Amino acid sequence: MSANDQTLYYFNKAANAMQLSEPIMMMLSRPWRTISVKIPMEMENGSMKVFTGFRVQHNKGRGPCKGGLRYHPTMDLEHSNSLASLMTWKTALVDIPFGGAKGGINCNPREMTEKDLETVTRKFISAMHESIGPYKDIPAPDVNTTSQVMAWIMDEYSKINGYSPAVVTGKPLELQGSQGRTAATGQGVIYVIQNLLEDLKHPIEESSFVIQGFGNVGSWAALILYRLGGKVLAVSDYTGGVYSQEGLDIPRLFQYCSEGGTLSSVPGYTHVTNEELLALPCDFLIPAALGDCIHQSNAHSLNCKYIIEAANAPVTPEADEILQKRNILLMPDILANAGGVCVSYFEWTQNIQQFQWSEEEVNSRLRTKMRSAYQTVCKVAKQKGVDLRTAAFMIAIGRVGKATALSGI
Ligand code: NAD
Repeated sequence: MSANDQTLYYFNKAANAMQLSEPIMMMLSRPWRTISVKIPMEMENGSMKVFTGFRVQHNKGRGPCKGGLRYHPTMDLEHSNSLASLMTWKTALVDIPFGGAKGGINCNPREMTEKDLETVTRKFISAMHESIGPYKDIPAPDVNTTSQVMAWIMDEYSKINGYSPAVVTGKPLELQGSQGRTAATGQGVIYVIQNLLEDLKHPIEESSFVIQGFGNVGSWAALILYRLGGKVLAVSDYTGGVYSQEGLDIPRLFQYCSEGGTLSSVPGYTHVTNEELLALPCDFLIPAALGDCIHQSNAHSLNCKYIIEAANAPVTPEADEILQKRNILLMPDILANAGGVCVSYFEWTQNIQQFQWSEEEVNSRLRTKMRSAYQTVCKVAKQKGVDLRTAAFMIAIGRVGKATALSGI
């Protein structure tokens, strides 16, 4: 199944349960606008490359489009479309006044210098600037895009349109970024886990965690878990992972990786491949890297009780069905990783007001948003007798549908 078909599968499952008509389903599931731009550039080493930049603006029924930018060799319109659609349902589920978008560039940042990254970013924004804006479409970080990339976006857009901090979120604090944004997606993942543990009446100190992906989302989730007393048994990045039955020293690994180290070269721990890591016995498995890592061929070998989808689309529909049959409870991506876009909304709000909130205020508002979304999803799942992902999609589709109908079709 293609990335797009996978998102459509989950959408259709919920839409069918809601008995939506065919035209309404088509109207809500299809993207509003897809854009691709050519980015020819001279690399710092003198070679010539031609990249393609993508942006899919999936839905703007509830507000300006919102979603990350991903720099990765596999990035294309198909992935942009699938991820943009997830953003439409995510922003609706946590009830923030945005639609959904996603995009990126089909480049490999590991083969590029800092200067190359700046050039490709500025050229992308220069080609795209008419389609984005504080009340049109607001990009944010995703895989391989950092606060520095967001700073270049703000600067390039502002050169053409005048000072516009609200055109992009995930910016550095020195450039109107928000307190709490860097940690926000990981923090949101942990709020969801805390709500679940509260319902299960099980202490976090007696729970074990395995995390795939140690970038922005995975490393912050690991660090917050460690600080709360949770036992993080294993973490990994694209080079492989490290494991300890006693629990890893996460602050040490966090420091090691923020200085440019990779996990396969960390001394003092047992090393595992990414495939071995997914099968480790634990309470919570947290995929926090790329999509499709849990599929038909490995879903039977997982040894966890709960899956928290910190990454977007980490579980294929075939695997989703296997996990349900195995009674492995899954918190879906559009709920579990919504902390990032919530704090992006707070950043945009602060930028528009030219006002700054404290980290305590940001986290307190984030905790409230995540708790409310978690409780609504659990309630609807129980009422309708559906799984949590279907419940989350039903809530989101209902909200986008109502806004669309009120605006007039
Ligand atoms: P990142 O670039 O900061 O980190 C990605 C991590 O995944 C890195 O540790 C990388 O080494 C690892 N990785 C890459 N390929 C891998 C592979 N094949 N196997 C194992 N690990 C691999 O990206 P991020 O911002 O942390 O995003 C991670 C996931 O979370 C993505 O699915 C993204 O869409 C999703 N997400 C991110 C945000 C955000 O605010 N950054 C918000 C919501 C969802």
